[in-house]
Amino acid sequence: MTPDSQQIATEWLVDAGLRPTRQRVTLAELLVGDGRHRHVTAESLFEASKTKGASVSLATVYNTLRAFCDAGVLQEITVDGSKSYFDTNTHDHPHFYWEDEARLSDAPSDQLVIQRLPDAPEGVEIASVDVVIRLRKV
Ligand SMILES: [Zn+2]
Repeated sequence: MTPDSQQIATEWLVDAGLRPTRQRVTLAELLVGDGRHRHVTAESLFEASKTKGASVSLATVYNTLRAFCDAGVLQEITVDGSKSYFDTNTHDHPHFYWEDEARLSDAPSDQLVIQRLPDAPEGVEIASVDVVIRLRKV
């Protein structure tokens, strides 16, 4: 971890209105410290934090990811009922889900065309549309 990545992480937290506690900064560094977007699961972030020698419990990772989502700096993408991915890119964009590797990556937005959505039922509006394209080896 470089001072730069720590600074990027701290600013990311402060901009989101989150108090930059030590554990939050540690996890934010792993998420955005290199200035690039990434997709993580709670488990993969937990493993990454262990590799970096940080002592953060899996429960803390879950709670922190939840707090980052609530603050609007992470987007949660549910691929199947049980597995959530967290994306540091919060703009609407489609995803590829690599079934063999259980990995999520961005799909090219410029190739996606959604022509029409079903009307929302009475009394509700469409909050968002998630596009997850599942891939498997041929
Ligand atoms: Zn993404």
